[in-house]
Amino acid sequence: MNATAPHGASSPVRSVIRKVEAIPLRIPFARAFTMAAHNQPTREAVEVVVVRLTSEDGLVGIGETQAWRRQGSGESLASLVSKIREYVAPALEGQSSFDIAALLAEVDGRLAGNLYVQAAVGDALYDLTARALGRPVFDVLGGRCRSEVQVGLALGITGDGPRMIDAAQAVYDRGYRHIRVKIGLDPAKDIECVAALRTHFGDRVTLRADANGGLDYGGALRLLAKLEAYDLDIVEQPLPMWDLDGMAALARAVRMPLSADEAVTDARSLVEIARRGAARVIQTKSAKNGGIHSIRHLWHLADTLGIGIFPGNHPSTSINVAAVAHLAAAWPGSLLVGDFQTGADDMLGDDIVTTPVRVAGGKVHVPEGPGLGVTLDPDKVAKYRVDLR
Ligand SMILES: [Mg+2]
Repeated sequence: MNATAPHGASSPVRSVIRKVEAIPLRIPFARAFTMAAHNQPTREAVEVVVVRLTSEDGLVGIGETQAWRRQGSGESLASLVSKIREYVAPALEGQSSFDIAALLAEVDGRLAGNLYVQAAVGDALYDLTARALGRPVFDVLGGRCRSEVQVGLALGITGDGPRMIDAAQAVYDRGYRHIRVKIGLDPAKDIECVAALRTHFGDRVTLRADANGGLDYGGALRLLAKLEAYDLDIVEQPLPMWDLDGMAALARAVRMPLSADEAVTDARSLVEIARRGAARVIQTKSAKNGGIHSIRHLWHLADTLGIGIFPGNHPSTSINVAAVAHLAAAWPGSLLVGDFQTGADDMLGDDIVTTPVRVAGGKVHVPEGPGLGVTLDPDKVAKYRVDLR
């Protein structure tokens, strides 16, 4: 007996996966990207792996991960692709995409704790399943609670107050009201830049800072004490991801709340952060936290623990942007306005879908088409595809 979709159309009881592909891509940043963390070379491009599932009905589901090579993963493009082809494809082929939880448990059994692989695989399963049902992913997740997601933007380290103001004003003029400043390389310049921004904007913007784990305890204590004058609403990951006791001591010593990003991987890491009082807010990211399936669990857990949530992703194409938008759309609770990376409207120089998810007035409109609502552009895929041999 067929299940019946709300619009009356007949839907399949299974959506059998015929083919699993892992497509490696290298997509240029709009501008070369320098991170706040130490020992990080400047990057010209983001390395993306798209998982493409094709069903026996000819439907296609896609999901994205990145070879980000930090924040819980040292995977390269080649290692992600080989793991998906060697371990994930045999687990999925011939199975129904509707069995998302069981299939992801199987993938976790084969590639223990590999959240970066699970993100692309799981999001592709949601996309294919929702397409088979003829519904948007947010309907598979429990239905729509919001149509738009407000987003902020991160400014890279310039070390120069006037240049920072120019960059921030351009962001403000595009409708953003939440600006994240990267800090952690030079405390004097960090203070100069934050002070310049607060003086320029007054209370017209929410300012927050992100150190990407680049400070030590003493340095963080001194810097955050001086930054207290500039009304930052959050300071993210001031200390390395392993130093939860340091974060907890810092949280007690300064007035602004701390956020955890690098330190949050799976549910156990979140419980440990809460247990030690290391942060009151978390930043989730599609690839870092295992995609829609795992992140929904993290958000429920965070909500239960009284921890605030920044939705987001690494710099990524519209596939991940859509995944975060659908997650947020189906979330009934509150969400903080984070620097949710929005494809070519943010850091990327190009996108790989036919109709990119855009930001208008500082908001992402949640795609409404079947599945994630984005479709691969074959010309762009050919252009940015990496030959690994
Ligand atoms: Mg961060």
